[in-house]
Amino acid sequence: MIHVENLIDGKFVNVEENFDDISPLDFSVIATIPRTKNVDDAVTAAKNALEGWSSLKLHQRCDWLDKIADELENQIEEVARLEALDTGKPMEVALNVDASRSVNNFRFFADFGRTLESQEFKMDDATNYVVRKPVGVVGLISPWNLPLYLLSWKIAPALLMGNTIIAKPSEITPLTAHFLGKLCVKIGLPDGVLNIVHGYGPEVGQAIVEHSEIKAISFTGGTSTGKIVAATAAPMFKKLSLELGGKNASIVLDDADLEIAVPGVLRSSFLNSGQICLCGSRVLVHSSIYEEFMEKYLQDLKEFNIGPVISEQHRSKVLSYIELAKEEGGQILAGGRVPDKAGAWIEATVITGLSHTSRTATEEIFGPVVTVHKFDTDDEAIEMANCTQYGLAGSVWSKHRGREVAEKIESGMVWVNTWLHRDLRVPFGGVKDSGVGREGGMWSIGFFSEAVNICVMED
Ligand code: NDP
Repeated sequence: MIHVENLIDGKFVNVEENFDDISPLDFSVIATIPRTKNVDDAVTAAKNALEGWSSLKLHQRCDWLDKIADELENQIEEVARLEALDTGKPMEVALNVDASRSVNNFRFFADFGRTLESQEFKMDDATNYVVRKPVGVVGLISPWNLPLYLLSWKIAPALLMGNTIIAKPSEITPLTAHFLGKLCVKIGLPDGVLNIVHGYGPEVGQAIVEHSEIKAISFTGGTSTGKIVAATAAPMFKKLSLELGGKNASIVLDDADLEIAVPGVLRSSFLNSGQICLCGSRVLVHSSIYEEFMEKYLQDLKEFNIGPVISEQHRSKVLSYIELAKEEGGQILAGGRVPDKAGAWIEATVITGLSHTSRTATEEIFGPVVTVHKFDTDDEAIEMANCTQYGLAGSVWSKHRGREVAEKIESGMVWVNTWLHRDLRVPFGGVKDSGVGREGGMWSIGFFSEAVNICVMED
């Protein structure tokens, strides 16, 4: 049994009340989690650490990020084991996606920091210097689907730019954040620079968003929670980055190479049991290749290894959408059932026969459920892809017209003939109800710093 504790000012501390961390694999209790409601101590620690941390040279903070990356990499199997335990995902996904990409996040921002150049704008009679200052104490709130991967994506650039941190992982998946805290203490990261608090979102998460001394909130989670976060933070003029939900389309055009498209679309449908904000949960296929595509897709699905969904409660939500699909006239081509074993298992499910505007095909399910739709022209595919409130990601599969179609999709990110192929320098984020702001490369640098101008008049 693991006892998760808050990390405040370099020490692990508990609170009076704790609750259980439940394994989605078999519903056993795997850890206890502090039910934190107040973040004042963490904020005081972060404020006290701010001057020392922000006065380090940029290259010194890059070295710290490398040290964290080294330590995580040394323990990569353990990181993956904890992530697999907490989320139920297969070990190979936990290792090759979650743990590896968490190491990469620290490594990337260490290297990226070393390439940052100071900006100057010359006038005839003066020089403008752009100085990037830290924002201050920042609040980082992350979801359960890719726990350390998404949290480290925020922690690394926040540290790089000299901020100090109050981080809150999802209450459902606290283990790897706790482990990261231990590694940071072990390598001597200065006290108070990284504080990690655990508990329920509406309690400790809300306390972070409400705290007047926390100057920026970087939030990844559902669109409805994002609305609450925005409503709380905006009147306080906090910097706000919101990475929210999605209902992404995978579009297979008539000239697609099915040798690439079928495994690619299948992976985007069901990796991490469909619980990645970038997953393609709507598969749009040109009518001329529909039969051939579906035959291969359903055949390959039989070999696709998925874990359970994150919790019993989430499985109920996913199952309710399968029932809704039946009411809306959908046919279940594969899956749709709950395997006869303990844990939050549910079969990978493929549904056809639904209108692309049905609730099942437009609302975020965030599980191993895809709806498949036929189209006849590129314009029809584009219209179907753009018909939801969301605009996070998408993919287009085509030998010749991929980029042309991709540019017409109302989404922050579109892949052509690939999916989840990430270059960490590029902007990451959604349009419409999928979010506000961008992360990645210079966009993260911009969010986690205040760019100020010093204009010096020349003699
Ligand atoms: P939630 O919105 O439920 O939770 C996200 C985080 O916010 C959790 O840490 C949660 O804590 C916390 N939280 C909940 N209520 C509040 C509050 N009032 N104030 C502050 N924080 C709060 O999302 P899920 O964890 O269910 O994650 C799934 C969602 O995340 C999906 O919609 C998915 O699309 C989206 N997502 C978006 C990504 C993107 O990059 N755009 C990437 C990954 C996921 P707790 O869990 O303890 O309640």
